[in-house]
Amino acid sequence: MEKTFAIIKPDGVERNLSGKILERVESQGFKIVAMKRTRLSKVQAENFYDVHKSQPFFDSMTRSMSSGPVVLLVFEKENAIADWRKLMGATNPADAEAGTIRKDFAESIERNSVHGSDSTATAVFEISYFFAQSEILS
Ligand code: GDP
Repeated sequence: MEKTFAIIKPDGVERNLSGKILERVESQGFKIVAMKRTRLSKVQAENFYDVHKSQPFFDSMTRSMSSGPVVLLVFEKENAIADWRKLMGATNPADAEAGTIRKDFAESIERNSVHGSDSTATAVFEISYFFAQSEILS
């Protein structure tokens, strides 16, 4: 079983989409093995997205990520990392396939409702950035 890390971003929480998003997650065979609702500080968002620090959108994106409550999640499933990215859809909702979360719910490339790890190494880093082992219950 593989684990991946996910976030329902502030724009998704703000628009009361958490339930709709998690309904899709569970119906696609993912098990939610950790979940917490919190608000990221600007510094936490900057450190989390450190790989993007030289991007022109970095300040705006990390401001958006720290603008309101988020739901932090760990999902478990065979092939969880790739399957969650598929269910999320492309980063820019304009490019996302029909039936994906970003196509159906995202407002823009920045307000794109969800995050998902993009590799095994990223998933390990991202899960441990937010969760203690004792908070993850398979
Ligand atoms: P992801 O893995 O699909 O979330 O995409 P990336 O890791 O490439 O980017 C991280 C996040 O930065 C994305 O989910 C977007 O919210 C944001 N982002 C990426 N590209 C842009 C951009 O060109 N403009 C803005 N404003 N935000 C962006």
